[in-house]
Amino acid sequence: MDIPALIGRQRVFFKEERTRPLGERLKRLQALREAVKRHEPALLAAVQKDLHKSEFEAFTTEIGLVYKEIGHALKHLRKWAKPKRVRTPLTHWGSKSYIVPEPYGVALIIAPWNYPLQLALVPLVGAVAAGNTVVLKPSELAPHVSRAICAVIADAFEPEWVSVVEGGVEASTALLEEKTDYILFTGSTHVGRIVMTAAAKHLTPVTLELGGKSPCIVSGDADLKLAAKRIAFGKFTNAGQTCVAPDYVYVQREVKDAFLEHLTAAVKELYGADPLRNPGYTHLISDRHYKRLAAFLNDGQVVIGGQTDSDQLAIAPTVLDHVDWSAPVMQDEIFGPVLPVLTYDRIEEVYEAVLARPKPLALYLFSSSRELQQRVVERLSFGGGCINDTLMHFASSYLPVGGVGESGLGSYHGENTFFTFSHQKSVLRQATWFDIPLRYPTSKAGLKIIRRLMK
Ligand code: NAD
Repeated sequence: MDIPALIGRQRVFFKEERTRPLGERLKRLQALREAVKRHEPALLAAVQKDLHKSEFEAFTTEIGLVYKEIGHALKHLRKWAKPKRVRTPLTHWGSKSYIVPEPYGVALIIAPWNYPLQLALVPLVGAVAAGNTVVLKPSELAPHVSRAICAVIADAFEPEWVSVVEGGVEASTALLEEKTDYILFTGSTHVGRIVMTAAAKHLTPVTLELGGKSPCIVSGDADLKLAAKRIAFGKFTNAGQTCVAPDYVYVQREVKDAFLEHLTAAVKELYGADPLRNPGYTHLISDRHYKRLAAFLNDGQVVIGGQTDSDQLAIAPTVLDHVDWSAPVMQDEIFGPVLPVLTYDRIEEVYEAVLARPKPLALYLFSSSRELQQRVVERLSFGGGCINDTLMHFASSYLPVGGVGESGLGSYHGENTFFTFSHQKSVLRQATWFDIPLRYPTSKAGLKIIRRLMK
């Protein structure tokens, strides 16, 4: 594909203001919703082929989120797009101030493979709602979904408005060489740095949705049975290949044994006695990922799971006890169905360990103490998270999703996606029927009064 030519055509389309009328944007979002509906069976089949995701998971964690995001944008777009009046200081007496959201132009969205559909289409919804044209690069590691996305997009948009560029590193690199007006990247911290470096050359603003090791703290006063079930759900959904999955558990020593018993029961309840034969259990994306994860099984004592199937690229939900920070499994984001359990006596130990490492994308706390809940939120920096739950903050259109520090830059979802893809243009409209002489250096009394007003 001739990438410079494609971006050039999108730029012309944008300059001709074809994406600007709100009515057109709304129509396109409706068209996108209809296209996703028409292609739903093909999308479900593609997600099944790439990741062995069940229909339940594919709908609740992929297609359903896309519908929700489109519905939310359709409902609120007129309000988001309206210029917003703001106050005007006394020094500017007579004028009015407002902020106009303005599309950037050509937006580039680069998506990963783990939720290959929603992590491509949810940002797209906001980018289109904001009035941009979009070049979308899905992940090459989920080739069936990448293909299916091409069909959906071709059904809803002309290529000058939204185009899909398929491929891996070469395609991504070629796209990043061109000047675009906004980049939203979702993927690893390592590639995030490459993207930001490339963006810097053109001074293109970026949102980076990255990863990291997200802690899950279980305090002695938590409802252990519920905590175990919600942690098992959060960790083993998509076989742990979730950016906001609990990476590891930090459990208070006095409840560790009870917690592990509940966790064992929860894993069995959710995935059955033989998860590798469970059609509802997701597999790993590639042989490389399978081998990396299988090696972690020796990093502690297996208390749950441990079974592997190299032909199907599957590892059963696995919990490792007796793990410490020096183990290989504790060095980088796990991104798979292996859950190490660490033990603490005093919460300060947890603060110290978390604060010594890059700021995580997510953090989860299970505790019934309001005081502890407040303290953890205050003390630790993380992208977002839940108290007494896992993952669910990600599925709310009202909460911005994004990391902090090495786990990301910027955020999106709901109105945040719209504003992410909009420049906030400040406008001051001054009156012309009078002109305060004080503001000019020729005014004798001016400085004195201005000094007083600006204090
Ligand atoms: P990745 O960084 O390897 O790839 C992401 C995208 O970048 C793909 O489209 C890929 O083709 C492209 N890419 C790969 N190498 C590149 C290079 N050298 N130059 C330019 N582009 C390149 O990530 P992944 O393996 O697809 O996804 C896993 C990572 O993504 C995990 O770290 C996970 O935590 C993170 N993630 C974050 C979020 C979030 O919302 N913050 C969501 C999902 C995944």
